[in-house]
Amino acid sequence: MPLIDLSSPIDAEFWEPDPIKHEVLSHADGARHVISEMRAHFDLDLPVDVFPDGEFLSNDFLYLSAHTGTHIDAPLHYGSKASYGRPRSIDELPLEWFHGQGVRLDLRAWPIGAVGADALREQLALVRHKLSPGDIVLLHTGAERLLGSPRYFTDFVGLDRSGVDLLLDAGVRVIGTDAFSLDAPFPDMINRYHETGRPEVLWPAHFAGREREYCQIERLGNLGALPSPTGFTVTCFPVKVARSGAGWCRAVAFI
Ligand SMILES: [Zn+2]
Repeated sequence: MPLIDLSSPIDAEFWEPDPIKHEVLSHADGARHVISEMRAHFDLDLPVDVFPDGEFLSNDFLYLSAHTGTHIDAPLHYGSKASYGRPRSIDELPLEWFHGQGVRLDLRAWPIGAVGADALREQLALVRHKLSPGDIVLLHTGAERLLGSPRYFTDFVGLDRSGVDLLLDAGVRVIGTDAFSLDAPFPDMINRYHETGRPEVLWPAHFAGREREYCQIERLGNLGALPSPTGFTVTCFPVKVARSGAGWCRAVAFI
């Protein structure tokens, strides 16, 4: 069964608003490290030359946001409380949510900003897909081409509240995008807020999660590699970070 990786990497060389720190403990440093740890915790001695070439195992230490790389936003991310009850953290959600029939909708022709229910209806008709409960919808915005650069955070199209409602009304629990956010870019929303004076234009997709329990996958990758908009399943199990509002995931399509 062919597998297609739909994930973007966590890469400390990428430009990020909250930079990633990735410290590598080399194999040689790993040898010195394990020797001192064994001495400190268990009073055990090991000579460094017991390891081939003096090398033990490497290690990687990361300091990064849970919203780096491909990740799932949990209901807790959207607010401390929700109208439907207590918003759940990423470790509390049912795995069934993260395995389902996938459908890719093409939003690449839309300008920077947010699209709504009409655009989604149009795309669903184009790919002849009727949404079913548990479907995982993947929005192909094309933002991935800017990955690693500052423009990745400003040049993309998101969803407005009517778009989110259309999908959730059909029983969708997980909405994915290859962009930085499911909402419009921050500067676009803030400019529209200043133009209109309407606070509803600010983060409508995320704030919808204060009324309706659902997840987003952000920063997907490789959506163009799917051979067709339907006819695949998606698996995107989030890393089980206790009490976290988000968790990294490896999103994969099974054709
Ligand atoms: Zn996020």
